[in-house]
Amino acid sequence: MRKNIIAGNWKLNTTLAEGLELATGLNEVLKGKSPKCDVVIGVPFTHLASIAAAIDTRKIGVAAQNSADKEKGAFTGEVSAAMIASTGAKYVILGHSERRAYYHETPEILQTKVNLALANGLTPIFCIGEVLEEREAGKHFQVVDKQVEASLFELSAEDFAKVVIAYEPVWAIGTGKTATSDQAEEIHAHIRATLAAKFGAKAADDCTILYGGSMNAGNAKDLVSRPNVDGGLIGGASLSVANFLPIIEAF
Ligand code: PEP
Repeated sequence: MRKNIIAGNWKLNTTLAEGLELATGLNEVLKGKSPKCDVVIGVPFTHLASIAAAIDTRKIGVAAQNSADKEKGAFTGEVSAAMIASTGAKYVILGHSERRAYYHETPEILQTKVNLALANGLTPIFCIGEVLEEREAGKHFQVVDKQVEASLFELSAEDFAKVVIAYEPVWAIGTGKTATSDQAEEIHAHIRATLAAKFGAKAADDCTILYGGSMNAGNAKDLVSRPNVDGGLIGGASLSVANFLPIIEAF
């Protein structure tokens, strides 16, 4: 059965004290509620252990926003999937367009990161999506197919079943410009068909595909009402409980 997930991506925001306040605040408001989706927060590395210890991780999953493409050794400044798992985090966001664009993460590097995440028991939230010029040239279907093929198609069916995909059109991230729910549904259905051709109809049907790109309290209901949109990856609107909670409650 496919899961619905609302995941926050805090990016390079919050000190440890601010992050703890945000996470425990969300934990508090969710105490009396039974959301119809899983809730995840993607926090800075420095916050992982403290936040995982401070909240009910059965109610709110903790995610890292990146992980190393190496297991261990002389790679100064890197944080491995095993280290992330040791903090109590259960997820890792991989392939975010900001990492692809600013840190030159290639499909091959991302394939390694996905493999290491899975080997260490983490659920990868694997991001794909086209830039504006690609959408305008009508190449968006091709672009997402390539991204999925290059980093996920070597996985076994068993490992693929543990991956969450986030479709995030780059032109909609942090811009206030959201894809329409028709655009999201169209490309999510396409991604699912691509997955079905490789991993089979059941595996594709069970795969959670999130939408990301300026999702907020105002547009979340419309987006998640579509049959192939299984939730969201949310940047800006995940930085306050007041903005994030209505998105969780959109289901
Ligand atoms: C993101 O960072 O994944 C994202 C979707 O950001 P925003 O919601 O701010 O567009």
